[in-house]
Amino acid sequence: MVTENLQKVRERITIACNKAGRSEEKVTLIAVSKTKPEEMIREAYAAGQSDFGENKVQEMCSKAESMSDLPIRWHLIGHLQKNKVRKAVAVACMIHSVDSVELANEIQKEAARIGKIQDILLEINVAGEESKFGLRPEEAVVVAEQIASLPNVHLCGLMTVAPYTEHPEDNRAYFAQLRKISVDIQSKNYDNVSMYCLSMGMSNDFEEAITEGATMVRVGSLIFGERHYEITEGSI
Ligand SMILES: *Cc1c(COP(=O)(O)O)cnc(C)c1O
Repeated sequence: MVTENLQKVRERITIACNKAGRSEEKVTLIAVSKTKPEEMIREAYAAGQSDFGENKVQEMCSKAESMSDLPIRWHLIGHLQKNKVRKAVAVACMIHSVDSVELANEIQKEAARIGKIQDILLEINVAGEESKFGLRPEEAVVVAEQIASLPNVHLCGLMTVAPYTEHPEDNRAYFAQLRKISVDIQSKNYDNVSMYCLSMGMSNDFEEAITEGATMVRVGSLIFGERHYEITEGSI
């Protein structure tokens, strides 16, 4: 099932890219495997999927360990607490959920300790939802400037989790806003900051995100099926 689902999602990405006049090589599919078992991840990998997203550090690390035979790129997409930075930096190719200078400083310390340059994204709460993590849009430029000076942290772009909606078209304005913030930051030409990643769009709205310039879409349930657990703050 996972193989067929992946195929369908890839086809929809291709169509959305064509409609938007964008190259599909510019859009990375991140298969969000949170709560899903190893067998499903192995099946997806065998079907050509190598970027996977997890929202909990512990789960990401134990999956990375049990599948260390596969060259999977693990993306941390959920909220990161400072006391879990060490484990996150050990495993994640990219941390999508950085939402404070303090957290970036912790990542800097740990990345320097192990001699890594850690790719990160700033998470922006574009819709201003109380229940969600992320910087306020107006904080983004200042935080980017402060992170720019950290030698072992490479700020590559922005991430957002748009509101759940029955009308995905409604989220286009939020995706456009994220893109605009990335253009603002890019225009400052901070050393060590590049804005080539826009991580936005999920099962419900990834096509709209592609229309608005997403370079990474994070798709879970369309690939692995519904998740059976309560969604709590921090898990989404
Ligand atoms: C769970 C999750 C996703 C994937 O959600 P689906 O609706 O299942 O595609 C994407 N991004 C984040 C941050 C998530 O926590």
